[in-house]
Amino acid sequence: MKTEVPIQINQIVRRITASNSSLFTGPGTNTYLIGNDDVSIIDPGPQLNEHTKVIRESSTHIKRILLTHTHPDHSPGANLLQEHLDIPIFGLATDSSIKKDSIVNFESYLLDGDLIRTNEYTIEVIETPGHASNHLCFLLRDERMLFTGDHIMEGSTVVIAPPDGNMSDYLSSLKKIKNYNVGQIAPGHGEIIDNPFETIDWTIEHRLRREEKVIKSIKKLGSCNIQKLLKEVYSDVDPILHPIAEFSLIAHLDRLEELGDITTDDHKISLKK
Ligand SMILES: [Zn+2]
Repeated sequence: MKTEVPIQINQIVRRITASNSSLFTGPGTNTYLIGNDDVSIIDPGPQLNEHTKVIRESSTHIKRILLTHTHPDHSPGANLLQEHLDIPIFGLATDSSIKKDSIVNFESYLLDGDLIRTNEYTIEVIETPGHASNHLCFLLRDERMLFTGDHIMEGSTVVIAPPDGNMSDYLSSLKKIKNYNVGQIAPGHGEIIDNPFETIDWTIEHRLRREEKVIKSIKKLGSCNIQKLLKEVYSDVDPILHPIAEFSLIAHLDRLEELGDITTDDHKISLKK
């Protein structure tokens, strides 16, 4: 296992990448440390003692933990940190995230527009449901740096898994980011992204192109089941990834049903005329 070391991103931001690289997590989950004298931790990562030890040893001024969402590769480290440090955890829980995710002891919930102010920096909370119903992004205002968790990743598209994940919400939350003054994206997985709005436009287009392919494929196959549709819609994707792609396909189908374009009676997917 490679040793984790904090990497300095700018004057007040450091990053520690957890040793949990995988198909889902890319090079591993990024934990960010904001500030020097009053440190906020964004996403302490998975249940890995070694990782939380590196976080703890990186500063004696850790004041709070902020969570983008409560998936197992982002939030369990918060509980581990709390065993050693008397610091509050802030984030959001929803009815569906509570049903599915591990329990986090939130001090209080963060909502859209909330500000975390210190002498060194201001962080603005932006609600971005889609990948998860309780997903938040954090904007470090003066640095114009947006911490996106799993809303936007570098190097791959994120999984939208219903019912907690929702494709229409995801697309709206991507468009929403364009209203903010963002210069760089610091994702939950991968490197810093220097062209945020181009990346967002590409991501929206990519999803909508996939959705068009879903409709075309149903037209071609006629009434069909999900496995048949999966092979057709993701014919350009390595079959080893199809079980993951199936989540996003279900998310597209839910959205198309909401829009009134398809029906999914008796597990048969058909176009609505
Ligand atoms: Zn996630």
